[in-house]
Amino acid sequence: MSLLADVSASAATSTPFDLGPARALSCRECGHQVPLAAEFACPQCFGPLEVAYDFGDVTRASIEAGPRSIWRYRGLLPVPSDVRSHPNTEPGMTRLIRADRLGAALGLRNLWIKDDTGNPTHSFKDRVVAVALAAARQLGFTVLCCPSTGNLANAVAAAAARAGWDSVVLIPKSLEQAKVLTTAVYDGTLLAVDGNYDDVNRLATELAAEHEDWAFVNVNVRPYYAEGSKTLGYEVAEQLGWRLPEQIVVPVASGSQLTKVDKGFQEFGRLGLVEPTPYAVFGAQATGCSPVAKAYDEGHDWIQPVRPDTIARSLAIGNPADGPYVLDAVRRTGGAIGHVSDAEVVDGIRLLARTEGVFAETAGGVTVATTKKLIEAGKIDPDAETVLLITGDGLKTLDAVAGQVGPTATVPSTSAAVREALANR
Ligand SMILES: *Cc1c(COP(=O)(O)O)cnc(C)c1O
Ligand SMILES: [Zn+2]
Repeated sequence: MSLLADVSASAATSTPFDLGPARALSCRECGHQVPLAAEFACPQCFGPLEVAYDFGDVTRASIEAGPRSIWRYRGLLPVPSDVRSHPNTEPGMTRLIRADRLGAALGLRNLWIKDDTGNPTHSFKDRVVAVALAAARQLGFTVLCCPSTGNLANAVAAAAARAGWDSVVLIPKSLEQAKVLTTAVYDGTLLAVDGNYDDVNRLATELAAEHEDWAFVNVNVRPYYAEGSKTLGYEVAEQLGWRLPEQIVVPVASGSQLTKVDKGFQEFGRLGLVEPTPYAVFGAQATGCSPVAKAYDEGHDWIQPVRPDTIARSLAIGNPADGPYVLDAVRRTGGAIGHVSDAEVVDGIRLLARTEGVFAETAGGVTVATTKKLIEAGKIDPDAETVLLITGDGLKTLDAVAGQVGPTATVPSTSAAVREALANR
């Protein structure tokens, strides 16, 4: 393998892959660079590799002229410029909505919700999978795979089906039934493993080493996958009218999403697409799996892995790969990380539904409830413009609200009974 000293023009022309503006993979720890390939760990220090770019001329106008999907940002992603000619699920450009009623309930004067339930398989994971698939195709893979806490399984199985690829998905067998069924329906290979996510992730890492043509989106092509989350940051900035919010609250599982939303804001500032105004990034976890929040509270810059026990299964990663970088981003921007109990998660889901008519999955409940807690703790400024990322759909985690909500009354089919029930409500 030839090693690059920096992102040079010769490296760019010698790369056999068309990955648009991507030029190399760069180690987050030591800065060492390797050519674009299906690599995820630095050969020198085992630090995580990240895509390094040489961005061309990307302007507000060129983005606005693009499709209403994440591919409007293809000039900022590790994908070929003709990415749209390959079948994919075209996620992105989900709605950014004013949340005045939720804001009033929380005491926030200027609140927005980025509603990523509107993606093809109803979570933000469609973004990362679309980018991973586009890169994996260029890198020569033919099978799309992942270990998953649920939403990634849905997104991988659906994107593979649409692309005509086989898929291999590994999940913990305790997953919500809705997430199992909404993956299985696409008819790929789905292995339910008797273990937790961290077990499943370890098994996937072994398989990735054994099967040359299997792209595990969040393992061997993770550097490309992770870049897909930048589009959440890009869209928030574009939809606010080409400016950055002052505060953003992001749920944390592996931590990849939070670090890439931050990266997206920084890139937009550096490219002159927005004023580089200050912003604070806040992280949200469920208490039953809160290793990053704990490290934040204790002032550590390393993460002590935990065994997850929470209804927020989509966030149940006990050994989060990007945990230390979440701590960096949150501390650098003046944010904070909070955590909430499962009961508070359900309250958060119900509060969001009642005030904004948006039904989020447990991760959304974590975000709303943690926001409330961080306001009460004086960490979130109630006067600053704030965006909450609602990353998944409540229809996939019905168990969380089952038994907590239901019909106001169940009545016989007579008008007298209906009137009585209405009078008693
Ligand atoms: C995976 C997931 C997250 C967190 O993603 P990371 O990048 O692993 O931190 C947040 N919300 C939902 C709904 C998810 O499925
Ligand atoms: Zn390194």
